[in-house]
Amino acid sequence: MKERFFSGAQPTGRLHIGNYFGAIKNWVRLQDKYECIFGIVDYHAITVSYDPEEMKNRILDCAISYLACGIDPEKSILMLQSLVPEHTELAWILNTVTPLAWLERVPTFKEKVSQHPQNINAGLLDYPVLMAADILLYKSVVVPVGEDQLPHLELTREIARKFNGTFGYTFPEPKEIVGKGARILGLDGINKMSKSLNNCIYLNDSPEVLWKKLSTAVTDTNRKRRKDPGNPDICNLFSMHKLVSKKEEIEMIRKGCQTAEIGCLDCKKILAENMSREFEPIREKQNMLWKDLQKVEDILREGSKKARIIARLSLREVKEKIGVYFG
Ligand code: ATP
Ligand code: MG
Repeated sequence: MKERFFSGAQPTGRLHIGNYFGAIKNWVRLQDKYECIFGIVDYHAITVSYDPEEMKNRILDCAISYLACGIDPEKSILMLQSLVPEHTELAWILNTVTPLAWLERVPTFKEKVSQHPQNINAGLLDYPVLMAADILLYKSVVVPVGEDQLPHLELTREIARKFNGTFGYTFPEPKEIVGKGARILGLDGINKMSKSLNNCIYLNDSPEVLWKKLSTAVTDTNRKRRKDPGNPDICNLFSMHKLVSKKEEIEMIRKGCQTAEIGCLDCKKILAENMSREFEPIREKQNMLWKDLQKVEDILREGSKKARIIARLSLREVKEKIGVYFG
C-alpha cells in the first residue's frame, strides 16, 4: 500500500508561479509514489475579508489550475475542504489539545494581524489548527509545501504528538517535502509572492501581461546604470531564471550580468520568453477547462466523496479514542 498525504492551496485568488514551483510541481511528480489528496481549502480562505460572489469562481480557478498543471483525477483525489465536514470537526477536537500560546507565536498570525488590522478574527489564530486537521485527517506521512508553511507543519507535528501522547498513537508526524522553488519572491523583490499581496506572476498571465510585469520588476537595486556590473546572486529575476531557463543560458546570463555585457532588459526578455514557453501548455489547458465547467465541478464533487470515505474512518477512530463515539 502506498503512503498517503494531503496538501492544498487556499482560493484567495488566482494561483501564481510561487504556488507552482513551491508546491504544485512537486505534487504532480509525487502522484505515482503516494496516494495523494489535493485540497482547495476554502474554509481557510474565509479568514480574510473577501467577496462571497467571487468565491465560487476562485474555487473553480484553483481546481482548473491544479488540473492544467497535471493533477490527474484518475490517480489522485482533488477535493473541496467545505464538502468534507470532517476537516472542521477534527479541527475542533485538535483545538482542545492545542495550547493557546502555541498559536500566538506562529509568525503568519502576527503577519496577518498587521496586514488585516480591521479583521482580526478568531479564525486567523485558529488557522494552523484547521491546517493540522487537513493534514492529520488523512494520516499524511509527508507534506509538499513552500518554505512559508514550515512553521505550520512544525505545529502540526506538535499537535499530533500531543494528541498521540494524550489519547494513544493515532497520527504519524508528517515530514516536509520542500522543492527547488521553495520561496519565490514577488515582483517587488522583497515580499514572498502571495495571492493576497498583488505582486504575482499568475499561471494564466498572457505573454503580454507577463512582459509588462517583468519589464518593470525589481532587479539588483545596486545596478543603477546599464554599464554597471550586476550581482545575479541578489537579483530576484536571476533566481527565476534558475527555474525556467537552460543551464547554458543561466551561465551566460550570470557572466553577462557580472561583466555588464548584458543589461537587465536583455535578461528580462530572455526570462519572459522562457517563462511564457514553460506556462503556455498550462495556460492552454486552463482555457479549455473553463469551457467545460461541468466536468471540473464533477471532478471536485467525486473527489470530495472519495476523500470523505477516508476522513470518516479517521474521525471515527479519533472519536473512539476521545470517548465520544456512539456509532
Ligand atoms: P495567500 O497570500 O492567500 O496566503 P499564497 O500565495 O501564500 O496565498 P497558499 O494557498 O497560502 O498561497 O499556499 C499554497 C502553497 O503554495 C503552499 O504550499 C505554499 O507554501 C506555497 N507557496 C505560496 N507562495 C509561495 C512562494 N512565493 N514561493 C514558494 N511557495 C509558495
Ligand atoms: Mg499563504
